Amino acid sequence: MSQSSSDNTDISQQDLCQRFLFSDVDVRGEIVRLNSAYTDTISNHAYPPAVNILLGEFLAAAALLGSTIKYEGRLVLQVRGNGELSLIMSECTSEGAVRGIARYQQVPQLTDFDALTGDGVLVITIDSSRADPYQGIVSLEGGSLASSLKTYFEQSEQLKTWLYFAVDDKQACGFMLQQLPSGRQTDSEERAGTWEHLLALGQTITAAELHSLSNEDLLHRLYHQERLELFTPRKFHYQCSCSRERTARALISIGKKEVDSILAEHGAVVIGCEFCGHEYRFEADEVEVLLEDRGEQLH
Ligand SMILES: [Zn+2]
Repeated sequence: MSQSSSDNTDISQQDLCQRFLFSDVDVRGEIVRLNSAYTDTISNHAYPPAVNILLGEFLAAAALLGSTIKYEGRLVLQVRGNGELSLIMSECTSEGAVRGIARYQQVPQLTDFDALTGDGVLVITIDSSRADPYQGIVSLEGGSLASSLKTYFEQSEQLKTWLYFAVDDKQACGFMLQQLPSGRQTDSEERAGTWEHLLALGQTITAAELHSLSNEDLLHRLYHQERLELFTPRKFHYQCSCSRERTARALISIGKKEVDSILAEHGAVVIGCEFCGHEYRFEADEVEVLLEDRGEQLH
């Protein structure tokens, strides 16, 4: 490989997630690489580098896990903890839109996962238009998002899983290997042997390779002796799902008394979106109509 650049400058390899399947055994994998989907998300905020890196892992993980959304919907990954961060969350829709935030009282000084998240749980929520909402919860394990997700898959689906994330200030990348339910291989010892073999090869991956190699080259480097299929990649982009309509609903939920006191003081209600920073301004007469509409709905 003659490429020594640390970025994948080939635009066709950017902001995508691509699945692969080993043709002869029951193991699949997925590679995600978020470029502007990641940098557009973090550029809305002034988080310290360690928070950007962790948020990058959350965004990459949401894209990896988001492939399980079968219908129109969204997947949310979040930790509410008692570490330096009170919240970190990422969201990915079935249309490939990602967004994310972190919340803290004081700017975090420490950089490792345990210090940032504290004692928390990882909550995975899937809202889909054509299925009941799903929520999975796992305690934070092993000092990383990758090991917490590994535990989650092993507990919820009894499938061996391995994840690796590599994030810098330009791209958020992830690599996943996962056992599939028994199909091509039925002997449990054989299954276990296959997994150990593919895992050992996968674990030789480096951050530089994940950042700079095309998916074809990366898979050739790791698994040139295996037969595998590479599927059509899915594209991702940054997009906030906030709207004037949703913000109006949030305004109504504040309550008339509170809203009236804001109007008395400021002459209008301004609500900013925590994800993208967009400010929605509601003038007094508009607020009055909104609150009246709500009154009609109640009776
Ligand atoms: Zn927004």
